[in-house]
Amino acid sequence: MIIDTHAHCSFDSLAEHEDEMLARMVAAGVEMAIQIAVDAASARTVVDMSRYRPNVYRAVVGIHPNDCQSIRDIDTAMAEIRSIVECSGDVVVGIGETGLDRHYPETGPGEFARQRIFFGRHVSLAREFWLPVVVHSRDAWSETIECLREFRPERLVMHCYLGDLATTQTILGLCPNAWFAFGWATTYRRNEAVRGAAAGLPLDRILVETDAPFLSPEPFRGTINEPANARTVLEFIKTLRSEPGAEVEEIIYRSTKELFGL
Ligand SMILES: [Zn+2]
Repeated sequence: MIIDTHAHCSFDSLAEHEDEMLARMVAAGVEMAIQIAVDAASARTVVDMSRYRPNVYRAVVGIHPNDCQSIRDIDTAMAEIRSIVECSGDVVVGIGETGLDRHYPETGPGEFARQRIFFGRHVSLAREFWLPVVVHSRDAWSETIECLREFRPERLVMHCYLGDLATTQTILGLCPNAWFAFGWATTYRRNEAVRGAAAGLPLDRILVETDAPFLSPEPFRGTINEPANARTVLEFIKTLRSEPGAEVEEIIYRSTKELFGL
């Protein structure tokens, strides 16, 4: 069994075909897909989805670094996320996605500094509710490490892990309760370093994700990504590991359930 630890099924491209998407998940042995919010509105949506289908969905709520820009008041925005967590009971299993993203040229120094403030506030919220924090890091490795050193999250998931094995050791040195979620990037030819991390990490630190509906893993590159593709990612990870495939699947499944309290 597999749990996709990072998906955005509330986005139109997936929501419009939800029944088919769910059927393909079942066929692929993907039991659940954790739904990640990017702002307050989507946080409410993923909570509602999780309440409606608690056997398939759970919610992670927060504000994506690329969605910080439009927010004027950080306190008000974070209070809103906090109240969503407070009123949602068990369906909220994490805080995020938060982190740093300097991929887009319009992200100037001021905006980047705001992402950092939001990141710290998400870590505090996660600590308050004893939830893992889901971290996004794009074109900002050294600053992400700096933030981890400063904020020291208790439990964290490095989503769409794009670093190498040495970086996992740096992160584990700062945050012993860190997990690394591998997805599409692991299957792309150029990402040898990411495969090195997936091969060399202790097995119980590895999670599987799709980041659906964004980039699909090989060989489905170019199509709309969906949680069923977590099977493709997991089968690929099995080829990188020395343990028997069944053990890889079992350990990853168990640590995912434990981490998110599923
Ligand atoms: Zn995401």
